[in-house]
Amino acid sequence: MGDRDRNKKILLELLKEGENSRCADCGTADPDWASYTIGVFICLNCSGIHRNLSGISRVKSIWLDFWDDDLVEQMRTHGNWMARKHYEANVPPFYYKPQASDCVVLKEQWIRAKYEREEFTDIVTEQRESPISELNATFQPEKIGNPNGLQITYLKDGRTRCMFVYHKNGKDIVDWFNAIRAARFRYLKIAFPTTSDTEQKEPFKRRWFTLDIQDRKLLYFKEPLDAYAQGEVFIGHSEYGYNILEGLPPGVKGNKWNLGITIETPERKFVFTCKDTQDLKEWIVAFKEVIFKPMCLQDYTVEASLRRKQR
Ligand SMILES: [Zn+2]
Repeated sequence: MGDRDRNKKILLELLKEGENSRCADCGTADPDWASYTIGVFICLNCSGIHRNLSGISRVKSIWLDFWDDDLVEQMRTHGNWMARKHYEANVPPFYYKPQASDCVVLKEQWIRAKYEREEFTDIVTEQRESPISELNATFQPEKIGNPNGLQITYLKDGRTRCMFVYHKNGKDIVDWFNAIRAARFRYLKIAFPTTSDTEQKEPFKRRWFTLDIQDRKLLYFKEPLDAYAQGEVFIGHSEYGYNILEGLPPGVKGNKWNLGITIETPERKFVFTCKDTQDLKEWIVAFKEVIFKPMCLQDYTVEASLRRKQR
């Protein structure tokens, strides 16, 4: 139980303290609702969203509802600053935090991500990092058979998953492409501060193979539009036993094409054929760029994760 007037007075005092004077979820000034289970002061609009998180959030009006002593104490010991430190500990830099004027879908997903799915609390696990660090997009018009065909790859359950999309409006598809690059680039800048502004290179790709110069990965596919790469090979620096040789190894004959390239890694050799000398030359240039490019911190992470997978 509690003294109604005294408790209301305490709550109104709490509302003036620091971050409590703005809605914990959208920043609206002078919130007059609170989630007493989470311990945050929120605006009327956000309290409506909190009502749908029944197992997690319980809301009360500061002005209209009766507050028990222990609930007031809960608000006093928690509050918006404490909640932000906990629930927003690891909000990725690209993640859009909604403002008061934003639409409901943005606010609702923000609130659910924070409190229901706890996407941003405490230590970021490898799993949580991977959607951005492993996300990439490349235009593949030939492979997809559409001038605006975009291939999006990301890591799912330890494997590279591919998605193929196209849009009749070129601007839209390029905007998507740039949005993915921007998110990825910002991630790399923060997680791996050595990444320079010019380092974001277009992957070199041709049909069944994709060479991601940035990530030093060669992906190969059984069929051009397979959702999963059949395999991934890390291409390290020439000093560490990686090499590229023009031609097929002795005794190996190309199936349809006889121009070949052999890629040597410390573990094994990969052989593939090219349709003409132009194709061959382009592949060699692209591979050389990778094997002579110094390894950066991120490369060792990629290498370690691919080696783990191959075991
Ligand atoms: Zn709000």
